[in-house]
Amino acid sequence: MKHRLAAAAAALLLLMTAGCGESSAQDDTLHSADIFAMDTYMSLKAYGAGGAEAISEAEARIAALEHTLSVTDSQSDLWALNHAEGCPVTVSADTAQILDTAAQVSDESGGALCISLYPVLQAWGFTTGSYQVPSGAQIAGLLSLADDSKIVRNGTEISVPAGMQLDLGALAKGYTGDCVTGIMRAHGVSSAIISLGGNVQAIGKKPDGSLWRVGITNPMQPEINLGVVEIENKAVITSGNYERYFTDDAGNRYWHILDPADGYPADNGLISVTVIGESGLRCDALSTALYVEGTALAAEHWRRSGDFEMILVTDTGRLLVTEGIAPHFTNQSELPCEVLKREET
Ligand code: ADP
Ligand code: MG
Repeated sequence: MKHRLAAAAAALLLLMTAGCGESSAQDDTLHSADIFAMDTYMSLKAYGAGGAEAISEAEARIAALEHTLSVTDSQSDLWALNHAEGCPVTVSADTAQILDTAAQVSDESGGALCISLYPVLQAWGFTTGSYQVPSGAQIAGLLSLADDSKIVRNGTEISVPAGMQLDLGALAKGYTGDCVTGIMRAHGVSSAIISLGGNVQAIGKKPDGSLWRVGITNPMQPEINLGVVEIENKAVITSGNYERYFTDDAGNRYWHILDPADGYPADNGLISVTVIGESGLRCDALSTALYVEGTALAAEHWRRSGDFEMILVTDTGRLLVTEGIAPHFTNQSELPCEVLKREET
């Protein structure tokens, strides 16, 4: 007992002297956690004071969000919406905010983002991993239930038509990333980097004052990088066809981003879309939407908007980088890099 008291007093003294020191060195201590949640690996790293508390609060928040946003948990908001048979449901502020962004991005992408494809995703087996190619008639039948414009939002009161089922897989990780970085900032963390299954979000710069360097996967060779972007205070979010997919006996590949136009894996010329911007939620929604839109419409969508940059890889081996991020992107691939300009020449 005596020893512990003495140790505590010594620690206190140490803290006090550190506090009083005129030029006490900056606290760059790394606080980190590696967790598996939302069906993916997540890594959280926060530097300096407040980091430890922020990480543990973030872990609890992630667990809570996983519960709220799950489609399979019978206590979740999504379950309630998907089983309400057309009756209004009061959801959490989290779900309401995600639904707002989904509606916005669905609108601006001409319906390419479609969170009501859940029955079609189920038919393909993307929700369970029991993959199969559904019949054309089955897809057409299930697709007729999908239409995001029929979701009625009134604050946190949401109505989904009977038979329609939602899934927030396209945006949930981006929203979760915003919550985690929000918690870190609230704890005074000014340098942090998180990766939620490849969705990277950064606070500030590295503790040494340099920019964060985020590797972008080469969709044609996922074990190597396409290149690196240097960022601060940004989300870097990628949708690709190389992570969740299956191959049939004939060697055809089917991936988990579906085109609401026909219910088949989106095949409009893009195999990887990285979106860089402030909001993880918006960037995540956009990465899926732009993937579905394809090269030409994605470029138009970017020109119409002012709040994100993108890196595209096409199925013909073109690498397109928008002009706002081009100076911060280092191409490490064999592909020639084309810069997309806001003003078409
Ligand atoms: P990942 O989750 O692999 O990072 P995305 O952010 O692109 O990739 O989200 C893909 C998920 O979004 C799919 O697993 C599915 O749940 C859902 N989804 C698939 N196609 C669409 C679509 N057109 N609109 C909205 N959500 C979709
Ligand atoms: Mg997405």
